[in-house]
Amino acid sequence: MPKLLLFVLFVLGVVLWFKHQGRRDASPRVERPVEDMVRCAVCRVNLPRSEAILSQGKIYCCDEHRRRGS
Ligand SMILES: [Zn+2]
Repeated sequence: MPKLLLFVLFVLGVVLWFKHQGRRDASPRVERPVEDMVRCAVCRVNLPRSEAILSQGKIYCCDEHRRRGS
């Protein structure tokens, strides 16, 4: 009888482990999509497009450089 109990516990453990694995695979991975990198026209620093400031066809890293560049 104890052997059967151990077997049941073992199977239960395997089932729980599989469920855990499945849940981990199902959760979406938080990965930043690869963003376009652009270069500031003043200091030549690379930065993602979403953080860049566009002005008159030129790209700047910050407002100060935008003013300096234009
Ligand atoms: Zn800059």
